[in-house]
Amino acid sequence: MNLLLHTCCAPCSTAIIEYLLNREIRPALFYFNPNIYPREEYEIRKNECSRYARQLGLEIIDGDYDHDLWLKNIAGLEKEPERGKRCLECFRMRLSATAWLANEKGFDTIAATLASSRWKNLEQIAEAGKQAIIPYPHLTFWDKNWRKEGLSERRRILLQENGFYNQKYCGCEFSTRNS
Ligand code: SF4
Repeated sequence: MNLLLHTCCAPCSTAIIEYLLNREIRPALFYFNPNIYPREEYEIRKNECSRYARQLGLEIIDGDYDHDLWLKNIAGLEKEPERGKRCLECFRMRLSATAWLANEKGFDTIAATLASSRWKNLEQIAEAGKQAIIPYPHLTFWDKNWRKEGLSERRRILLQENGFYNQKYCGCEFSTRNS
């Protein structure tokens, strides 16, 4: 498997990457999260991901940070609750970019660390992932439940062991009001 793993943050990525490495799958990471606001928070989360990738010797590809474009994508959905329609659009944007990049760079599979967070809706992530690969028939979206097989527990342990910055809200300015 030649896997491009969309990574949303270091805490959500740890247990999934460990699971993959234990099975001799070395993913490339794609950090593309224009939803995160403000920019300082974006940089902190990106730097934590980069630090972890370097530690493991994994490639990490840096996506663009265009928060204005993200805002255009979710226009009209600002008042939606978390797990509502805005989040589906947010997942679509990030996973469509992942599928596009995977196609450009010759990967055969994509997956997303987004699904490791218990605050996110698994069905929405699966829907966004499956839609993202439609233009690329050779691509597979690995629709795995990354919270099972002890992965949620490993996430908690690895977060503590690595001393990662643990964000207090999902990412966009509309999620900060829930923190
Ligand atoms: S709450 Fe999280 S998943 Fe939903 S739109 Fe905001 S950043 Fe994206």
